[in-house]
Amino acid sequence: MYPALGNVTIVGMGRTALALAKLVLLKGGAPFVTEAAGRETVAPFCRELDRMGVPFECGGHSAQAFKGAKFVVPSPGVPPDIEPIRSAHGAGAEVLGELELAWRYCPAKILAVTGTNGKTTTTELVRNLVAACGHTVVLAGNNDVPFSAAVMAEPPPEFIVLEVSSYQLETVREFRPWIAAVLNITPDHLARHASMEKYAEVKARIFARQRPGDIAVINADDERTRELTPPDNVALWTFSLETRQANGLWLDRDTIRAGSTPVAGAADVHLPGRHNLQNALAALTIMRAGRFDWGSTVEALRRFQGVEHRIEYVCDIAGVRFYNDSKSTNIDSLRAALDSFEAPVVLIAGGRGKGADYRTLRAAVQAHVKAMVLIGEDAPQLAEAFSDLVHTQRAGAMDDAVACAMAQARAGDVVLLSPACASFDMYRDFAHRGRVFKEAVTRHAETRRAKRRETAQP
Ligand code: ADP
Repeated sequence: MYPALGNVTIVGMGRTALALAKLVLLKGGAPFVTEAAGRETVAPFCRELDRMGVPFECGGHSAQAFKGAKFVVPSPGVPPDIEPIRSAHGAGAEVLGELELAWRYCPAKILAVTGTNGKTTTTELVRNLVAACGHTVVLAGNNDVPFSAAVMAEPPPEFIVLEVSSYQLETVREFRPWIAAVLNITPDHLARHASMEKYAEVKARIFARQRPGDIAVINADDERTRELTPPDNVALWTFSLETRQANGLWLDRDTIRAGSTPVAGAADVHLPGRHNLQNALAALTIMRAGRFDWGSTVEALRRFQGVEHRIEYVCDIAGVRFYNDSKSTNIDSLRAALDSFEAPVVLIAGGRGKGADYRTLRAAVQAHVKAMVLIGEDAPQLAEAFSDLVHTQRAGAMDDAVACAMAQARAGDVVLLSPACASFDMYRDFAHRGRVFKEAVTRHAETRRAKRRETAQP
């Protein structure tokens, strides 16, 4: 049993903090929320906390907020080692992540997925597959539903599919998923994690507390995940697009096999790109390892059409197909997107960079990209990396970028928004950027139609 909660100081005010405050109340603790931003920025959350009767402060973290705290919980995005949290730890408070605290009250079996790219696609797919097998299941974590909210769901689901970020893993201690999968470990968030080794070590924490009866799922094609070792007696399942796996799923030309048994076909996966085949293999390996009903699993796989903002088909304008991959926020996701297309790509990229070396994409750009339209803060860096290979052009707002891209494209080409950068220099988040892109594309199509009508008139 875990100690009674007592005073719990939650640092940062957002949807997760709200759900966590509710959970703390439900479990007999006394939450207090402290937020650095001013009240006007977080007004809706303040109103909700008032309604719940939870005390809070805005505009800075006072010493008072941490006084007598038994637990301090940083919200997602708040580094656990910032000053007020460090002092509180020094004064005896236990610093825990939301994931760790919520896990202590979780009534469901957890299927957890982490990795640099592909978490959302894989967890969405797993949720669909588990539901198709007739089970109750909730998708939670890094997405729309905070884990704290999922553990309070009534009636409790049999399974929670949990998307876990490396940030959340920084502050876990006892967290123990029934099935834990690591998809890939590539350079992203390096500023915060200092080095790839540290990043890999954080990801490995997803397995650290697993015991006999639990299952670890690992991508055998990724040199860093391959190195991860779950504890003894935890069943290890692997998946690969490249080589035969004795205990796991692998792609043998067009057939997906478990060991030597054919269990599905590559054609059952209706998502673009090899990276999505890899995500599907991860999901299927979780389902196979968990002994879920296989017939229902494969049927549901065939129906799955992917997730918004992940190489999402938008429309066709004069034979040019438009795709929205706004969720591409690092160079690896851009590489995966480019590798998904046979047709020449007019690429819209750029935004707030993360310090990665764009030049590592030169081969992929040369193979797939016919022209580039660059937006946002990192446009000059991208131009410098590629302007000797392809035509590059700077654009302002998204309407401008779409018009420039269309001017470069011919029937049969693809226009792809896959920024390889964060969105915060121009947009609220990647979803906002993706919506703005889709609206700009739709407007562009309408303007063309209107012009055609005009010229057709006698
Ligand atoms: P996450 O939740 O980990 O960010 P998503 O499923 O939202 O993952 O995908 C994020 C981006 O990475 C998208 O641009 C997507 O096309 C790309 N992507 C998805 N799966 C992979 C993968 N296995 N390897 C590389 N890139 C991927």
